[in-house]
Amino acid sequence: MDPKKLHMYVSIEDKIANKERTCIIDQCQNTAINSHVLQKNGILNLLASNGFIREYCEAPYDKLALHFKLSPITKAYRFAGLCSIHDDSIFKYIEQREIDFRSYRSNLLFSYRALLRSLRAKETNIEIRKALLEKNFTLGYFDSEFLNRQIEEGNLALKDLLFYKHKFEDHIENSSQKDFEFIAITIPHIHIYASFAFCFESSEVLDQLELLGIDHIASYLFLNILPFTNQSLLILGYYKHSCIKCKEFSEGFANQTVDVVLSKLNEILLRYPHWVCSTDFYNNHLKSRQTIIFKYTHDCAFAGYPYTMNAPINIFEKIK
Ligand SMILES: [Zn+2]
Repeated sequence: MDPKKLHMYVSIEDKIANKERTCIIDQCQNTAINSHVLQKNGILNLLASNGFIREYCEAPYDKLALHFKLSPITKAYRFAGLCSIHDDSIFKYIEQREIDFRSYRSNLLFSYRALLRSLRAKETNIEIRKALLEKNFTLGYFDSEFLNRQIEEGNLALKDLLFYKHKFEDHIENSSQKDFEFIAITIPHIHIYASFAFCFESSEVLDQLELLGIDHIASYLFLNILPFTNQSLLILGYYKHSCIKCKEFSEGFANQTVDVVLSKLNEILLRYPHWVCSTDFYNNHLKSRQTIIFKYTHDCAFAGYPYTMNAPINIFEKIK
């Protein structure tokens, strides 16, 4: 790889990824602070050993590479989404010591924050691609055609994410609304926590629908894995009126044996690099299988639902 070009890519990505952001709430002009996707004290610290956890994410400076980043919990699983005023006022309910993880409001707020994180990541990604395009950057398959397509797809995704953002905000405002469905399943403690949103349709499918002029909202599922006494709680959420696939998929987890639930969860976690685990879990279950895991995540990056459930390994094997 051309080192000069790589350096250029890195500096553009770095500059945009680390620039100061405005609060994601409409009309708020305050600067966004770095806040944890899951609270540091009370959730992330339950996984930490000597203050560190492992985060499965894209490697910085190379969007095509993945890694299990060793992060201090003070810096792990964070994003610059909201200003401190909005962050405090909106998420107060799930930042307290005793959280009722099973309440509708908790599920709503955890899922809303997962959505905001995806939204901010998408915005940042589009900005990076626009900056690369402006500099006439090409590297491997990163040419202007590819970048333009990614910007278009990014904008389409952004439109859907904003649709869900406003639906969540209506629900947070007005507690009588219950148009999100949440399915909560208790499983043995798995030493992994997560809070992220993912889309069932591949960008290719969404692109096609747009080209055909078919009005369509992408099916997003909001997944949370949280501590629950000595167990883990898996919460799958979706918006009732736009997500037939999400309903079918989530219900597939209900009334199943632990083995079946874990094998379905394994498939999802291998596909989406957006979760954290303890360093022990990393050492005992992931470290020696990293190459296989990264390859599978990468291979699945552009695939949509229904899933083939072809995961080459089961990361839970040792702890069943
Ligand atoms: Zn704000």
